[in-house]
Amino acid sequence: MEERDIIKLSEKLFIPTYSRYPIVLRKGRGVKVWDVNGKEYLDFLGGIAVNILGHCPRKVVMAVQKQVQRLIHVSNLYYTEPQLALAKILIKNSFADRVFFCNSGTEANEGALKLARIYMKKKYGKDRFEFISTYNSFHGRTFGSLSVTGQEKYHHGFEPLLGSVKFVHFNNANAIANAITDKTCAVILEPIQAEGGVNVPDKDYLKKVREICKEAGILLILDEVQTGIGRTGKLFAYEHFDIEPDIMTLAKGLGGGIPIGAILTKEEIAQAFAPKTHASTFGGNPVACASAVATLETVLEDGYLLDYCGRISKYFMKKLNSLKNKYPDKIKEIRGLGLLIGMQLSSDSSEIVKKCMENGLLIGTAGDGTVLRFTPPLIIEKDDVDEAIAILEKIIKEDAS
Ligand SMILES: *Cc1c(COP(=O)(O)O)cnc(C)c1O
Repeated sequence: MEERDIIKLSEKLFIPTYSRYPIVLRKGRGVKVWDVNGKEYLDFLGGIAVNILGHCPRKVVMAVQKQVQRLIHVSNLYYTEPQLALAKILIKNSFADRVFFCNSGTEANEGALKLARIYMKKKYGKDRFEFISTYNSFHGRTFGSLSVTGQEKYHHGFEPLLGSVKFVHFNNANAIANAITDKTCAVILEPIQAEGGVNVPDKDYLKKVREICKEAGILLILDEVQTGIGRTGKLFAYEHFDIEPDIMTLAKGLGGGIPIGAILTKEEIAQAFAPKTHASTFGGNPVACASAVATLETVLEDGYLLDYCGRISKYFMKKLNSLKNKYPDKIKEIRGLGLLIGMQLSSDSSEIVKKCMENGLLIGTAGDGTVLRFTPPLIIEKDDVDEAIAILEKIIKEDAS
């Protein structure tokens, strides 16, 4: 089928939830993807922060191939080896004692909210059900996660949502302290608000929030669905801020492209979930777990890739900042950590994203639509950065003239 026929028919057959760019992608390797016409793109969006190791990384492909021939699915009524292997790696390399596997970011957050509620109910013997979240946060599209997502535009038309959520401004620890009552259950935060605009908090924000939660006897849930798995140059972003959460959720990068999510927590909190209180049919699927094991082993190997992420981030940020200095009317700010980077523009970003695509560079947007989001694979090289910057500069120059 011709590209335009695929697009035309897709527009007719799918429930219209997406506004897609008009290309049909067929193949990917490393930082490159190709469309059905053979046109090549440099992928600096990485499946929205999913393809941590790039497209079709060899070790992940081999692990999936091996597992898919052995066992594809059996449910959680039985134990499997890949699940255990993945649990061991995650627990060894995090604050957590226990893990629960699911299939996506929103599902991980749903489970985390449920876990927080049941734990607090058991601990205090009464309902402590309120959540505190932040404006401009993003936690997912199902009702619980949507309810703690601090962006009106995603709520619109789906009300009523969970009623017991208070929103406060991000990067303001006092606002959280002031929002706590004897009904508060937990605070849910992204260490860096990704989808909401790549908002990086002050260095001591999370530490203050951690302290406040501890004093009030409430839980701190960190949503590391986007920041986790090396994205920021540490395996988990909380490591930058010298704190530990009570519950952490993961998804995007975890499976190296195969769908998988996870909830991680401490022993005492985990015990609030007894058998039959929470479950997922596909959760911890052997193929997804094998893929995640291969991904994590690669990310963690000698600590090399995590260090590299920090180094290549510096190079990329430097180049982006020189663009900013060259076009100060157009580019207002470069912000981010590791390879989660936002470029604050003075106007809407969608035309620029579209033109970059036409010129062979895939990037994303964030926030109110005036932010360009870069979430490339951790394996990008200087040449890739130079190529991306050259395309960006060309488009921004055209746009400015
Ligand atoms: C993408 C994202 C989610 C939702 O993940 P899905 O897999 O799309 O459900 C939740 N939280 C954060 C921080 C995200 O970036």
